[in-house]
Amino acid sequence: MDTQASECATALRDKMLIGSEWREAQSGATIPVFDPATGKAIACVPDGSAADVDHAVETAWRAFRSPAWCAMPPAARERLLLRLADLLEANGEALALLETRNNGKLLAYSRMFEVGAGAQWLRYMAGWATKISGSTLDLSLPLPPGRRASAFTRRVPVGVVGAIIPWNFPLLMAIWKIAPALACGNAVVLKPAEETPLTALRLGELALEAGFPPGVLNVVTGRGESAGAALVAHPKVSKIAFTGSTEVGRLIGSVCGRNLKPVSLELGGKSPVIVLDDCDPAIAAQGAAEAIFFNHGQVCTAGSRLYVHQGIYDAVLSRLAEIADGMVVGSGLAAQTHMGPLVSQRHLQRVRGLIDSGIEDGAERLCGAAAVPDEGYFVRPTVFANPDRRPMTLLTEEVFGPVLVAMPFTDLADVVAQANNSVYGLGASVWTNRLDAAMNLSASLEAGTVWVNTHNMVDPNLPFGGFKDSGIGREHGAAAIDSYTTAKAVCLTYAQ
Ligand code: NAP
Ligand code: MG
Repeated sequence: MDTQASECATALRDKMLIGSEWREAQSGATIPVFDPATGKAIACVPDGSAADVDHAVETAWRAFRSPAWCAMPPAARERLLLRLADLLEANGEALALLETRNNGKLLAYSRMFEVGAGAQWLRYMAGWATKISGSTLDLSLPLPPGRRASAFTRRVPVGVVGAIIPWNFPLLMAIWKIAPALACGNAVVLKPAEETPLTALRLGELALEAGFPPGVLNVVTGRGESAGAALVAHPKVSKIAFTGSTEVGRLIGSVCGRNLKPVSLELGGKSPVIVLDDCDPAIAAQGAAEAIFFNHGQVCTAGSRLYVHQGIYDAVLSRLAEIADGMVVGSGLAAQTHMGPLVSQRHLQRVRGLIDSGIEDGAERLCGAAAVPDEGYFVRPTVFANPDRRPMTLLTEEVFGPVLVAMPFTDLADVVAQANNSVYGLGASVWTNRLDAAMNLSASLEAGTVWVNTHNMVDPNLPFGGFKDSGIGREHGAAAIDSYTTAKAVCLTYAQ
């Protein structure tokens, strides 16, 4: 075994975490986990069912009510989250290798955006644990003479949170959910994506090592339609926090609606990138490439529709095609690689099918046709030009891969209308140094986040979420604290 492989094996956990126990599924069934760079199985995890979810939720419920957790002072919760951040970093290299083996992403991305950003989010949310507050209120109750009234509110944890996450940033998405949930004093049952469960399991182990009481964080592996659905429907789960596709989000939202269960949904996107004619074409092309090709396009805010002012359209597109052609596609573990494999065989087939649809719809493919490694789930970065702006599936459907459609524009009002002509509204970026255009476009674009001269930038202090079919609710910052607590009003009367 080489050094990397042995470091990776040290971090490998392949059972579910319920309380402090590592368990098989009650049915004994397992799910294979693959290395997308080779297509070979690297582990098997339990295929959890409703019975396993019930066990995990009951365990979480007991932990939520236990004095060890519910009477813990906020400063102690803060310390546990800070300790978990330290442990994440101390085990960072093994976690990053494990993530790259399981998800395929570049090792540099695993280090920076899974481990590095994960620790940053844990520390940010640790700080919130001691800053949760309610308010005192004056009342106008019709009280008899001699009596007065007063009231205060507290933000209290909701109870057991069911967290369901996708495979594109496995460790970071887990932390985006568990960090605010635990900072607020909830207990969590986390269901990672079936493709990428390995770092979430290790995160559960590190949480125990950090000193979180057993049962406060449980990790149940399994499939969405069984384990995920059971978590959503469980009566003792008080809130669902979901990141994933709009299709599944809609389904989960409808079940939560029927059960009157709060739900936050971070869903899909088809984010526009708008380049004005005052931009340096080389800088704009680099920005547009990073907006779509970062993390192999497997980013909910990926800039998959590019609108470039006619005056610099040819210059931007030719540079963009050069950048895409120059990208080395290969294993995320290799230092020279710019783009790793897609996450799974199934996703590869879907992305290939969508690329074929672009060709059938008559767009010009500027790059992306070159060969890829035989084994593993690779596609090349692909740019289509659609100067006539013909209707095409690639303009409406989320690809979740490195596939871009570019179009020219001349009129700002027209490009805003084009950009907003989508069921999605997650992210958008505007590239210009003109203050008036930046301000007016950011006001007009229907998106939860509008970036100016950058794209895909997220920060734990910045609310994140979608307009329209891109979701409900906001993660991060103060919004996350509201989302993982509920208000309790206490009303009292007293003698004057
Ligand atoms: P997905 O199929 O919607 O799955 C997401 C999670 O939901 C997985 O854990 C999945 O389990 C589970 N699930 C599936 N069906 C379920 C059901 N009936 N009940 C409960 N849970 C269920 O999404 P994906 O393909 O893994 O991820 C890609 C999508 O996520 C993209 O559309 C992307 O835009 C979106 N995304 C959004 C954000 C954001 O913040 N807005 C961030 C990242 C990704 P299985 O793994 O077993 O299917
Ligand atoms: Mg899935």
